[in-house]
Amino acid sequence: TTYRAADDRYEKLEYRRTGSSGLDLPAFSFGLWQKFGTDYPYETQREIVLHAFDLGITHFDNANRYGPPHRAAEKFFGRVLSRDLAPHRDELILSTKAGNPIGPSPYLKGGSRKSLLTSLDHSLRDLGTDYVDIFYSHSPDPATPLEETVGALVSAVGSGKALYAGLSNYSPERAHEAAELLRAAGVPLLVHQPRYSIFDRRPETGGLLKLAAEDGFGLVVYSPLAQGLLTDKYLDGAIPQGARAHNSAFLSPDAIDDGYRERAKALNEIARGRGQSLAQLALQWVLRQPQVTSAIIGASSTWQLDHNVTALDFPPLTEEELALIDRYDGS
Ligand code: NDP
Repeated sequence: TTYRAADDRYEKLEYRRTGSSGLDLPAFSFGLWQKFGTDYPYETQREIVLHAFDLGITHFDNANRYGPPHRAAEKFFGRVLSRDLAPHRDELILSTKAGNPIGPSPYLKGGSRKSLLTSLDHSLRDLGTDYVDIFYSHSPDPATPLEETVGALVSAVGSGKALYAGLSNYSPERAHEAAELLRAAGVPLLVHQPRYSIFDRRPETGGLLKLAAEDGFGLVVYSPLAQGLLTDKYLDGAIPQGARAHNSAFLSPDAIDDGYRERAKALNEIARGRGQSLAQLALQWVLRQPQVTSAIIGASSTWQLDHNVTALDFPPLTEEELALIDRYDGS
């Protein structure tokens, strides 16, 4: 079937300014970490990605590592780009990352210039595009001088292979140092990508939110649903067939214990009191912070996407509700 993008796709989502840059991102971005490798049917994956674009999701978050196997998610996206989304390339924000290990070679991991820039070239070939919009250092590499890693990001932008630079999983201290180096090189840090959810509040407690405001970068947060734990799917009984806790190496069924169920049920009640689902509450909760430009969500069905992107259609969270939610922080 031939894809024709929905005409009303820019009337559905909020677009938010990224830090002190000129770039707007959709409040919801789409991530291809899980179920976008060779492990899931191509036509289903394609339908989900095109549906995301029809909903106004312009930002697709990828990495050299995503699969399985590594690189498969970028190869998949490259197929959809050439077949369906090519006419819309100017409307897409494509992100990729490098630096986390993808093989035993010393050049397929870490923050060296070699690792980052050869990976970027490989990602461009897999994606079938001349440039990515955001190129990330996926994780800090304490064994490589920060100047070298930052220098690789600056080169990526200078060569036109990336439009903006990002960091992921960096401590606030190291992110600040990198932001200063990037600023001095004329390539201001666009975004930091941390994990952030009701169950992981380190960006609040560790100072990253504060730093983002001071240094003028945006936060694009990952796993805002704690990989599905902040939805109602695991509240009672068995783990549903096909759910991430059932078949992923990254979410153990052991996470679904009595303590978890108690906390999730309490949060679910708070959500229901507001007329929304736990997933919608959890997404609204991360997006209440002005420094959070976008929440990256994964989805294994178009239903999940339709459901999740309405999370901002509810009244703002009150101080009382926030205090109540604070009682269930996942610990
Ligand atoms: P989420 O916390 O949003 O979890 C998404 C998963 O939850 C879905 O794939 C689905 O899994 C389940 N789900 C979503 N909506 C619902 C719903 N309404 N009801 C029930 N289940 C639902 O995000 P991810 O952990 O997937 O991370 C998102 C993205 O962030 C990744 O794709 C990646 O791009 C990025 N990321 C970056 C990292 C980094 O180091 N920089 C690390 C991790 C992620 P299912 O149906 O399969 O159970």
